[in-house]
Amino acid sequence: MIAEIIAVGTELLIGQIVNTNAQYLSRRLNDLGINVYYHSVVGDNPARLEQSLKLAMSRADLIITTGGLGPTKDDLTKETIAKTLGRNLVLHQESHQAIKCFFERQHRKIMKNNEKQAYFPEGCIVIPNNNGTAPGCIIEHEGKVIVMFPGPPKEMIPMFENTVFPYFAEKTGQTIASRMLKVFGIGESEMETRIVDLIDSQTNPTIAPYVGDGDVVIRVTARCHDKEEAQRMIQPVVDQIAERLDCFLYSTNGETMEEVVVGLLKEKGVMLSTAESCTGGMLASRIINVPGSSRVFERGFITYSNNAKIEELGVSQKTLETYGAVSEETAVEMVRGLVARTKTRAGIAITGIAGPDGGTAEKPVGLVYIAVCLDGVVECRKFNFIGDRQRVRNVSCLNALNMLRMKLACSQ
Ligand code: ATP
Ligand code: MG
Repeated sequence: MIAEIIAVGTELLIGQIVNTNAQYLSRRLNDLGINVYYHSVVGDNPARLEQSLKLAMSRADLIITTGGLGPTKDDLTKETIAKTLGRNLVLHQESHQAIKCFFERQHRKIMKNNEKQAYFPEGCIVIPNNNGTAPGCIIEHEGKVIVMFPGPPKEMIPMFENTVFPYFAEKTGQTIASRMLKVFGIGESEMETRIVDLIDSQTNPTIAPYVGDGDVVIRVTARCHDKEEAQRMIQPVVDQIAERLDCFLYSTNGETMEEVVVGLLKEKGVMLSTAESCTGGMLASRIINVPGSSRVFERGFITYSNNAKIEELGVSQKTLETYGAVSEETAVEMVRGLVARTKTRAGIAITGIAGPDGGTAEKPVGLVYIAVCLDGVVECRKFNFIGDRQRVRNVSCLNALNMLRMKLACSQ
């Protein structure tokens, strides 16, 4: 199978950005044994894109485009390709719904031009995008395959790894197996530094890291004639990565952070309760999402107001007046009051400023204190998160769960 990559974007042509997408895709196609003969770059211009596409279709079986799937007028990859192939654009209900949800999650209003991202060439396979609004698609056309991805690598890479890589592995007659490893607590670049030699030296299994939802994901994929054998090939690579990443690696089978924590609580026979201010029940909800959590979760308080912190948890009025609701002192009193009242061995308290309002120079939006108690020992950490309200709440929960995970992992 011969492939060609077309990167679309005037930014690339004027030297504003580097075509890292072509590099990434070439490396991964090579891993699959697919030969890439040409890379091309074309600006946001329909006539020239049509020309590039026709040329690519004359000499390759598989054509991958990146970029130009966004909501604005200069994003015209999908429209141009559909026209060139003589296909109509039709509304894809699921994508329409997903785009609406994406905007709701970010508290942004959906614009008319965002709806164009839910239109796709007739008869294509839509590739969901969990990290942005523009889904991609796969078109099978007269013996050729055309794949379109959005430009941002953070969106393109997970889409490729989760959907397109398995699709082509199957096309090339191979069986693949993969494991999803999840990393939390170190940045993407430090993590990559720790395992870069493994990434570079492995061809089968391959190691592909990308940014997840507040954490980092590493996908280890093996190709083989036999699925079980492929799984066996993965294990030693997972072991090597685990050794390098130590306690930062929290999951080796794709489990969520809350699944891991609930698993540890069960294993150690520890009951948990929570007291949440800015996360407003999100932490409790994530824990309760895990089947079987009733065996380890006692209760959760949403203590949003000062009054609630005083009445439900016994935080002192003086502490709130002296240090404020968002302070180490308050977080510690919250968690101490919590475990005293619920009589659980473990407790988590979160207090912070999720924004967009309410920040000051001294206490900016994103300032969050998380206090975790296990068997009477309290640890409190201060965080300065960046991002909008939902992101601050999400990463607060992740960090809280991670703090408890680390404590449980070290406990008897
Ligand atoms: P968006 O919805 O973000 O507009 P898009 O699919 O329309 O997505 P573009 O507008 O072409 O994509 O590019 C958006 C951003 O993605 C660029 O500013 C750049 O940061 C990144 N990007 C685009 N193409 C590439 C590429 N070939 N290599 C690396 N990064 C790229
Ligand atoms: Mg764009």
